[in-house]
Amino acid sequence: MFEESQALFQTAQQYFPGGVNSPVRAFRAVRQTPIFIRSANGAYLHDVEGNEFIDYVGSWGPMICGHGHPKVIQAVNEASQMGLSFGACTKYELQLADEVKKLMPNIELLRFVNSGTEACMAAIRLARAYTQKNKIIKFTGCYHGHADSFLVEAGSGVATFGLPDSPGVLPEVAASTLTARFNELNDVKLLLETHRGAVAAVVLEAVVGNAGCILPQEGFLQGLRSLCDEHGVLLIFDEVMTGFRLSKGGAQELFGVKPDLTTLGKILGGGLPVGAFGGRADIMRLIAPEGPVYQAGTLSGNPLAMATGSATLKLLQEDGFYEKLDEYGKALQEGIYANARRRRIPVVVNRCGSMLSIFFTNQESVHNYESAKNCDLNRFSRFFTSMLEQGIYLPPSQFESWFFSSKHNEYTLNKTLQAVDRALRSLF
Ligand code: PMP
Repeated sequence: MFEESQALFQTAQQYFPGGVNSPVRAFRAVRQTPIFIRSANGAYLHDVEGNEFIDYVGSWGPMICGHGHPKVIQAVNEASQMGLSFGACTKYELQLADEVKKLMPNIELLRFVNSGTEACMAAIRLARAYTQKNKIIKFTGCYHGHADSFLVEAGSGVATFGLPDSPGVLPEVAASTLTARFNELNDVKLLLETHRGAVAAVVLEAVVGNAGCILPQEGFLQGLRSLCDEHGVLLIFDEVMTGFRLSKGGAQELFGVKPDLTTLGKILGGGLPVGAFGGRADIMRLIAPEGPVYQAGTLSGNPLAMATGSATLKLLQEDGFYEKLDEYGKALQEGIYANARRRRIPVVVNRCGSMLSIFFTNQESVHNYESAKNCDLNRFSRFFTSMLEQGIYLPPSQFESWFFSSKHNEYTLNKTLQAVDRALRSLF
């Protein structure tokens, strides 16, 4: 199986370090070579050999409406007829900004960028400028892109390979990043007390996707909001993954907690490269050219990317969109649990809306990176391989979240659960 992909991957290694450019690098962790994709449609991927897969990666998040939705394709086609990039103002930017502000009313002003990494990098520069403090607090296992400040205990990519923090990051930069355990308010309290007056922001994925899917425990997010208020520290929700994924208004709407700044990406671009950061107007007005905090990007606000983003955000406002995703997720989660119980294979299946992860573990819960690390990665690898061979394309790491789309249906659900049955059987 997959011989053609294997041959192409050999060639790819002559061009790119490790043969890859995208997060597909994680295939290494499950001792597989990446599959070369030819096309995608709805809930399906097709590889270069014509194999079909039910897709639970969704381009690592953006494809919540499925691949190649006619309205999204029409939007990009129409925009492309008008020119590809101008580096000048267009109405497309206003349309997308309008949709974002409608869905996330906390965002009073925003700036479009080209990736989640850029959004997070700019957000902490802004937080430091606004508070005139230098340190940030992040959580172990949370990933906020690959800017130097964030490559400290950074979740999926790094966790998957068990790498230490990256060489090349200046120790003095890393030293300004303090880390706490997710769901441990006391860690944050202690850090804020120890570094009183030195912390600019607390930044987090409100539902973690980059250590596998991990939910905030009751009161955790509210507790962070109160601690930040008490210490004059900004609260930044990195909603690159959760924004428009967990609900129309992201994690902040779902849990009813207001961050000062929000970062966005993935779904925001509907499959083209878009990120954004935004939030309170008094903070955002510090961004150049209105204020002194420098931020730039040749292709930011690109008309094609703005058009696919707007078309995508319109689609997910259709009635019942999130209810349908939730029903699918619930059935998938329950189906996996039922099968694992029948076979006496201990698992924890975490889920929030259309994000889900399976952990092979005896632990009662997986509630932070520390508990995610304790799981049986070898079992995950074997499970993953069996699923792939049965035509189910999962993220190739336990430290990632599965994503599904509005195009997943009863048929894909049954197929997936049949494959789960075989994959779990193969673990003996
Ligand atoms: N933040 C989060 C929560 C993410 O999941 C990611 C990417 N997986 C990023 C930031 C970085 O986004 P990008 O890959 O677009 O730079």
